[in-house]
Amino acid sequence: MSKKIFLCAIANITSGTCNEDCKFCSQSVRYKADIERYRYKAIDTILAEAQSAHDNGALGFCLVTADKGLTPKSLDFVCEVATAVKSKVPKLHLIACNGTATREDLVTLKRHGIDAYNHNLETSQNFYPSICTTHSWQERYDTCAQVAQADLNLISGGIFGLGETHQDRLDMLDALHSLNPISVPINFYHHNVALPLSPNPLSIEEALGLITLTRQRIPNAQRIMVAGGRELMFGSRQGEIFAAGANSIVVGNYLTTQGQAAHADLALLKSLGLDVAQSRNDR
Ligand code: SF4
Repeated sequence: MSKKIFLCAIANITSGTCNEDCKFCSQSVRYKADIERYRYKAIDTILAEAQSAHDNGALGFCLVTADKGLTPKSLDFVCEVATAVKSKVPKLHLIACNGTATREDLVTLKRHGIDAYNHNLETSQNFYPSICTTHSWQERYDTCAQVAQADLNLISGGIFGLGETHQDRLDMLDALHSLNPISVPINFYHHNVALPLSPNPLSIEEALGLITLTRQRIPNAQRIMVAGGRELMFGSRQGEIFAAGANSIVVGNYLTTQGQAAHADLALLKSLGLDVAQSRNDR
């Protein structure tokens, strides 16, 4: 039986309006990156994206807001979107990715059809102040730690290639393991000239090794997902991520960068003899 690959799509339902200073993030207003910026995408547009994600074989659909955390207004909006998507495309597993959240926020999201909450640790606790000064790593960890209390699955991962040391990577992976996430999205830093970081220094071999390391350090995670930066990091060697330990990818576009066309991803999986997962329990 071949390995099943879980596909997930992302909808950036607000974009580029965040006041935080995360140095890897083009959605911060501080760096003036050349991206599309808007508040509250039209629900009809999100529904069309959800339908397209489903048609492309995605089981997961992630509603992302570009802010430090939820406000009463953005919580209402995510709930409204979740209700609409669940009603139109009920087979999609809905993920909310909205930054810092209280237990009450998480319970409210669950009540409106959200199945999982995504909040990434991004890097190690030690390195975090080098990439963000406006909020703490601990705040991120604390949100992740209470996701299960709202009966939501936790999705949490991070970014490689920010200038962190190998020890930082190990520390991040061990912290993720302690949170017991169902899925671990790993991103490879996609440099934008407006951002204050140096370009991602990783080689393809190092990046493949980090996928394997993630799989080894977080053995209980159902999915190791290669998310942002896949095309740029691996280029024509993207197929090797699955042998390295990944069993999930993002299809379609990322938050502020374009992904390759979904049909190219599906053709790649087919050429490797890999099947698209048809249910969340497929392995
Ligand atoms: S809090 Fe999130 S959206 Fe805001 S700058 Fe940091 S990573 Fe980007």
